[in-house]
Amino acid sequence: MAQCRECGKEFIQNRPFQVFCDDRCKGAYHRRRYRQMAVEEAEQRREARMNGHSAPTAEERQSASDVLARIVEKAGPRLHRRF
Ligand SMILES: [Zn+2]
Repeated sequence: MAQCRECGKEFIQNRPFQVFCDDRCKGAYHRRRYRQMAVEEAEQRREARMNGHSAPTAEERQSASDVLARIVEKAGPRLHRRF
């Protein structure tokens, strides 16, 4: 016997590691989880804006392009000599 993670009802597992008594409970659990994640994400974005930052992905993209620029700088002279 196992206990359903959604409704708490005890049920017999059809397969190992089954945690929901049926698909309805599984769907309800995942929908709630997904909504929770969306709320947390929105909250983080709001906090980032309040701290005066733009989206954190913009900063990540910036540092990535800096690295790329350095690689191009280093590779540049070598490429010129070869051609
Ligand atoms: Zn259930």
